[in-house]
Amino acid sequence: MPQTPLYRAAIEHIVERAPDTRSFFLRLGADQVLRFRPGQFLSFQLPGCGKTLTRAYTIASSPEDDGPLEICLNRVPDGPGSQYLFDRRIGDQLSFSGPWGGFVLDRAPPTECVFIAEGTGIAAIRPMLRRALEGGPQQPLALVYATAHEQDLLYREQLEGWARAHAAFSFRPLLVQPSAHWGGLRGDLLAHVEAWYVERDTDRSRHFYICGIGRRVLQLRDLLRTAGYERRAVKYEKW
Ligand SMILES: Cc1cc2nc3c(=O)[nH]c(=O)nc-3n(C[C@H](O)[C@H](O)[C@H](O)COP(=O)(O)OP(=O)(O)OC[C@H]3O[C@@H](n4cnc5c(N)ncnc54)[C@H](O)[C@@H]3O)c2cc1C
Repeated sequence: MPQTPLYRAAIEHIVERAPDTRSFFLRLGADQVLRFRPGQFLSFQLPGCGKTLTRAYTIASSPEDDGPLEICLNRVPDGPGSQYLFDRRIGDQLSFSGPWGGFVLDRAPPTECVFIAEGTGIAAIRPMLRRALEGGPQQPLALVYATAHEQDLLYREQLEGWARAHAAFSFRPLLVQPSAHWGGLRGDLLAHVEAWYVERDTDRSRHFYICGIGRRVLQLRDLLRTAGYERRAVKYEKW
């Protein structure tokens, strides 16, 4: 990744999406245009802590959006990069290069497609899903979205709206630590994915797009590939 920032943008507004989770909307200079594909990320140069840190944040908005670029992130305990961003205010400038990354969806595959997001991983999945829904897909599309608590389900209204609007799309929010009131899916993401997409049938034509944090993403990848899904049909990005 190049160290030279190519873009500078001002923070136009900030939205609190959940406890310790924020979206920053970034307005590029009038002379700057950034073209990107759903799923790509930006590489931020963050000064502070005596040195400049480089941290990646996915573009949470869609290429189809006309407005500012959105990034959505959670504060990581003792994490200098996320803390730096959480200390920023409207009007502050940020420097970044990009767009980067090959975890992208330009057009939905013609077969069933399953998106799996963990936590803020939805930032990468939502623009992909929006692209896949364009033109009213005929093939089934599913989003399995795991968070700890109900309040952590980001973009929930929009995702539920898409599920109501598109018969082909099913939205499956799953809580790892639900309250007693939660009537939906609960428990271990890996176990659910195994039950639905490995044990339930022998269809291995599905495509998967997985985004989340740490080891769990690799476990999901390995589970699906070992079960017989084509290697290139199981795409993932691990933060
Ligand atoms: C391609 C790519 C895209 C990314 N896009 C996003 C994004 O859109 N939103 C976002 O919140 N983060 C995103 N990240 C993670 C982000 O780059 C930083 O790693 C994260 O903000 C932690 O940085 P830090 O300096 O605060 O903490 P560090 O001290 O660098 O902590 C690193 C540790 O935190 C873990 N970690 C990384 N991301 C998270 C997270 N979100 N929650 C909890 N633990 C985490 C890492 O696995 C690692 O163990 C992305 C990472 C990559 C590689």
